[in-house]
Amino acid sequence: MEIIGVLGLQGAVSEHVKQIKALGLEAVVIKKPEQLEQIDGLILPGGESTTMRKLIDRYDFFDPLKEFYKAGKVIFGTCAGMVLVAKELAGSEESHLGIIDISVKRNAFGRQIASFEVDLDITGLEDPFKAVFIRAPYIESAGQNVEVLAKYDGKIVAAREGNVLTCAFHPELTADTRFLQLFVEMVEEQKQKEGKVS
Ligand code: GLN
Repeated sequence: MEIIGVLGLQGAVSEHVKQIKALGLEAVVIKKPEQLEQIDGLILPGGESTTMRKLIDRYDFFDPLKEFYKAGKVIFGTCAGMVLVAKELAGSEESHLGIIDISVKRNAFGRQIASFEVDLDITGLEDPFKAVFIRAPYIESAGQNVEVLAKYDGKIVAAREGNVLTCAFHPELTADTRFLQLFVEMVEEQKQKEGKVS
C-alpha cells in the first residue's frame, strides 16, 4: 500500500490527510526531514508559501526535499505548494525548490476575485472537477516537457512534468478525490518502476 506524506509545517495539512485516508491509503504528517524516508509520495499543501519556505529552512528541509525529488519520488504541490515547486516566480521573487519547469505568478487572480470556485475540465478526468481557488497562483509559462492538465480563463492551473504534479486550486477542500487519485497513480507507477530495477 502506498504511504503518502503531507508536509506538516503550515497550511491545509489535515484536509489532505483526510482525503488520503478516504482513498484507503496511509497518510503521514511530515514534520522532520528523516520522515521522508518512510513515504512514497509527498504533498506540499496550500497555505502561505513565504512562511512555508521560512519553516523549510528553519527545520532543515530544503536539501532533503531536493534529495527526495532527485531520488525519483513523486511530489504534488497545491496552491502555495505550486509556488514552492516552480522553477521561476514572476517579478523579482526568488524561486524555491525549482523542480518543475514553470513560471508562476503568485496571488495572480487579483484581489476582487481572490477566492472562487469553478467547474474545471482536467486532462485525465472524465467529468468536470469543482476547483476551489484561494488567493491562487497560476502558471504564466511552462517548458516544453511540461504537460498542461487544466486551464481556467486561459491561464494554466494544473500541470505535470515527470514526477512532479501541481495545481493552483485546493483539491483537498471538496469530497472529490479524483485529482488526488491522479497523484496516487503517479506514485504507484513510480513504485512499480523501482520494483523492476531492484
Ligand atoms: N497566495 C499564497 C502564496 O503565494 C497561496 C495561497 C494558498 O495556498 N491558498 O503562498
